[in-house]
Amino acid sequence: MQNVDAGIEAADVVIVGSGFGGLAAAKQLSKSGVEYVLISSTPEHLFQPLLYQVATGVLPATDIAPPIAQVLRRHKGADVRLGKVVDIDAAAAVLTYETEQGPRKIRYGSLIAATGANQSYFGRDDFAEKTYSLKTIDDAERLRAQIERVFAEAAGADQRTRERLLSFVVVGAGPTGVEVAGQLKELAKRHYHQEISVALVEGAGAVLPPFGGSLSEYARESLTRNGVEVLLDTFVTDIDNDKVTVKTKDGVERGIAAETVVWSAGVAAGGFAGLLAEATGCETDRAGRLLINQDCTVGGHADIYAIGDMTSLNGYPGQSPTAMQEGRHVADIIRRKKQPGTPFVYWDKGSMAVISRFSAVTKVNDKMKFTGFIAWTAWLAVHLFYLVGFRNRYVAVASWLVAFIGTGRPGFAEAEKAAAAPEAEQRRAA
Ligand SMILES: Cc1cc2nc3c(=O)[nH]c(=O)nc-3n(C[C@H](O)[C@H](O)[C@H](O)COP(=O)(O)OP(=O)(O)OC[C@H]3O[C@@H](n4cnc5c(N)ncnc54)[C@H](O)[C@@H]3O)c2cc1C
Repeated sequence: MQNVDAGIEAADVVIVGSGFGGLAAAKQLSKSGVEYVLISSTPEHLFQPLLYQVATGVLPATDIAPPIAQVLRRHKGADVRLGKVVDIDAAAAVLTYETEQGPRKIRYGSLIAATGANQSYFGRDDFAEKTYSLKTIDDAERLRAQIERVFAEAAGADQRTRERLLSFVVVGAGPTGVEVAGQLKELAKRHYHQEISVALVEGAGAVLPPFGGSLSEYARESLTRNGVEVLLDTFVTDIDNDKVTVKTKDGVERGIAAETVVWSAGVAAGGFAGLLAEATGCETDRAGRLLINQDCTVGGHADIYAIGDMTSLNGYPGQSPTAMQEGRHVADIIRRKKQPGTPFVYWDKGSMAVISRFSAVTKVNDKMKFTGFIAWTAWLAVHLFYLVGFRNRYVAVASWLVAFIGTGRPGFAEAEKAAAAPEAEQRRAA
């Protein structure tokens, strides 16, 4: 597949990123036996929608992050590499990526960029140091360690200390914020048997803003019933020691006690999206996402495609179905199943979000909406279907039974095992 030209390797197709978009493109290419090199800065394919379950001990991290090389092991034309792409020469069609052995260069026939997005702190980057985010497997493990620490310390503490330790603020009432807030309450009630305070802060006037109407209202009522304090039309203005300062739309300011602050508001595409914008002259939106062409090409470059969270196209949602469908679309153009220039059209299959055990919202379209247990089982089924690997599905079902029917938290056992085997853990970290 690759030959070496003046010290630069060459490949027909290079995919950057092992997330939803990159994996979908890889699978589609392999249907026609197209050879490709997949470069990713993380060795795993991460199923981000279940990160909150790792953070709250429902699932072990290994269930949602299988190595990408293992996922693609049966693809004869796949060449998977660990590396971070740090430069692109769009005119010469050459990428530079950093590896443990040093920088390497590769020339591509077609490039599929699928490097996702990061958390946005809306100009307050100092909040990153003071809060817990949920974007990577390391983020989820860090939050899980914090949750275990505060509950362990609170167990033997006096009431005042306990109240301080068990105070949580979740910023952003999108699906992740709602899932984290609901799951924290459940964890406290059913696993630790402790009272905790959870405030969910949202700048918009509704919980789960993209759902809207009766589903947003259902989610708000359900959270409130579970003891979550829901603050709408409210913005975080400051975060310091054990306290979050918030301000309402009407200008009323107050402080909320918070030993743990989880940040799940807003995305920003930087990194490779920024490099691509610079190299191709492609415009970006305020969040740094590439304003790609209708066929997912970038700027005037017919050989460069960008997909998923790093892009913005026709207001399609920054969610996994968009990334996967775009991945398949560009792979179909490359494998000549679609004409070059064919516009991408998103197929909206609906959205869903979990609130707590047995409670969720599902919106298929404006007429078909479900809440409660039906929506919750639909959510479980869909996530199980998309979880990669038979073993992971089997283990996930077992873990869900333990956590949702029983009161255990299999993910905490994983953390204990890792702590008892520091050498193995250090190897993984390296
Ligand atoms: C906590 C959370 C919950 C979510 N819940 C849902 C949900 O319930 N439903 C839903 O549909 N969507 C959900 N999403 C959104 C969904 O996960 C994203 O839309 C999807 O992951 C986007 O896929 P992607 O391929 O664009 O990027 P990602 O899946 O983020 O993959 C990006 C990949 O690029 C790699 N990478 C980044 N920079 C470089 C570089 N310079 N060089 C090499 N590799 C690089 C990364 O290592 C990674 O492998 C959630 C997201 C989060 C964070």
